Amino acid sequence: PHLSFHGRRALVTGAGKGIGRAVAVALSRAGARVAALSRTAADLESLARECPGIEPLCLDLADWDATEAAVGAAGPFELLVNNAAVAVLQPFLEVTRAAFDRCLDVNLRAVLHVSQIVARQMITQGTPGAIVNVSSQASQRALRDHAVYCSTKSALDMLSKVMAMELGPYKIRVNTVNPTVVMTDMGRINWSDPQKSAAMINRIPLGKFAEVDDVVNSILFLLSDKSAMTTGSSLMVDGGFLVS
Ligand code: NDP
Repeated sequence: PHLSFHGRRALVTGAGKGIGRAVAVALSRAGARVAALSRTAADLESLARECPGIEPLCLDLADWDATEAAVGAAGPFELLVNNAAVAVLQPFLEVTRAAFDRCLDVNLRAVLHVSQIVARQMITQGTPGAIVNVSSQASQRALRDHAVYCSTKSALDMLSKVMAMELGPYKIRVNTVNPTVVMTDMGRINWSDPQKSAAMINRIPLGKFAEVDDVVNSILFLLSDKSAMTTGSSLMVDGGFLVS
């Protein structure tokens, strides 16, 4: 989309691969000064080569103290995309404590923490801001083997609404995008089985999975002034899955 983010400072988490990487590139090309946070240094190095000017922040979001130090020092930002997440699929009866803790720490606790740090800086600066949290169709539908993942995304939708309520008076908007399956690394690991993917596609009215760009376009819309009156909402990028 022809949106301009000229001069705006943006933080994108999980920017090494997949959707987050594409968001970082799109924001940078639309004029934003982008900080790209991810875990694997090699991904951030290749991103900086692809898009000179992007500032790499290499850390594990499950580490509270490292996150506080790195994000605090990198700000302030006017735009934040909480995109990093992990999907460890286990049948409910086999969910492990380690998988539960990891998923909660990255998918939910880190969103709260990064948003606190960034929102406090927005408020101190007196600048309006926009936060987009990357949720999923899995926040609103039970999916087999997704007990923990579905729970984190459902909690993320509600966290986003409370954030929208409390941050609105500071002119900080908070919304989510909720995609269906996207064939990134995460999507490929979990949906490459043709039978499983065919069963999901059959439940999607538009008859296909989402492309990375479908999600990027919706995120950019929610970051931009084109959605100036929208906060506390969830934008489905699911081909109609949730109404089917
Ligand atoms: P990918 O697995 O392709 O990429 C995730 C990125 O997040 C990677 O760069 C990864 O780095 C980073 N990341 C993960 N954990 C951490 C951490 N602890 N600290 C810092 N960085 C981390 O995922 P997608 O692009 O597919 O997913 C992006 C978002 O979209 C997620 O929130 C996901 O839940 C959501 N989503 C995805 C769907 C799909 O089908 N793909 C469907 C619906 C929603 P590294 O690889 O180095 O760990």
